[in-house]
Amino acid sequence: MSVWKNEEILKRFSYYKGIIDGTHIARYLIAKTLECDFNPNDSLENLEKLLNEKSTEFNQLIDKNTEELKTREIKSPNYISLAETIANKYLESCIFCERKCGVNRIENEKGYCFLTKDSFVSSAFLHMGEESVLIPSGTIFFQSCNFGCVFCQNYDISQAWKGTRDIEDIASKVDDRNLAALAEKLVDKGAININYVGGDPIPNLHTIVGSLNHQTSNICQLWNSNFYLTDKALSLIIDFMDFWLPDFKYGNNKCGEKYSGVKNYYDVVARNHKRIHDGGSGEIIIRHLVLPNHVECCSKPILDYIAKQIPKCVVNVMGQYRPQYKAYDYDEINRTPSSKEMLEVKNYAEKLGILYKPVS
Ligand code: SF4
Repeated sequence: MSVWKNEEILKRFSYYKGIIDGTHIARYLIAKTLECDFNPNDSLENLEKLLNEKSTEFNQLIDKNTEELKTREIKSPNYISLAETIANKYLESCIFCERKCGVNRIENEKGYCFLTKDSFVSSAFLHMGEESVLIPSGTIFFQSCNFGCVFCQNYDISQAWKGTRDIEDIASKVDDRNLAALAEKLVDKGAININYVGGDPIPNLHTIVGSLNHQTSNICQLWNSNFYLTDKALSLIIDFMDFWLPDFKYGNNKCGEKYSGVKNYYDVVARNHKRIHDGGSGEIIIRHLVLPNHVECCSKPILDYIAKQIPKCVVNVMGQYRPQYKAYDYDEINRTPSSKEMLEVKNYAEKLGILYKPVS
């Protein structure tokens, strides 16, 4: 049975489905119709203030009916141009993610993610292995990540190359125009969304935002990420993404520090989830990978948070964890989750009334 026959899924993802059916317009296309005159050399503070004003205008606009929106003309410069300009300023002392390395990536300095201003794509294809509502998904894998997960399945893309291989030898450099062309090619092949992943898209936020002014198709823009971005960085994309596919890995800060090497994991990621739930498109599938021996400290607190704070989210309770990469060095995660653990997590989600079955 098609997952779209599930009324609750249809209700929660109605805008996304409308884009697929052509009855709704992707948010980024609407953002392009919002004229935005600004001086790129103005202070960051003033540009951020203008961004807030444009976001308010955008959110008034998005409520208008589709026919009215279709009559609007694309403007230049527009709301996206402003977000791109601010993103490039943030690169001068990088604060895209909560590591806040503060390096000048424009001047080729590198922080934890090992990226300068350039973005690199390791592959791009129609992914058929994502959640059923998302396939075929036009997936773009960026090289590098701002996390250092010891159990990473994509460690060759995310981190193992750092300091050992030149990124130019293993991935293709893309600018905003190349990235847009890649996205449009995926649309031509039949993608129903453009899925930015990695590694992680966060360090490449400027290129992704920039590419939106070169894309033209009415296609869903999807952010697939560890979601450890700063509040300021999230402000640059919150209005342009139609669908969110964030991870929610750990139910506390300590596990985030131990297995991914990041501080305040839970506080940051919970905050960001709340923001896209209450604002933005609000159409979200949270991916929760169940880790062995982490039902009490991670899975249950995450599900509690979702049920109380962000109940419109749909959750993919994932059982595919396998020890990989450096996970063998950690006894407690050096096995797959047991069927008892998986059942316990799913029963807990059920008890809390969380919608997970159609996508898990
Ligand atoms: S994206 Fe994150 S990890 Fe990379 S330089 Fe910026 S703050 Fe550091």
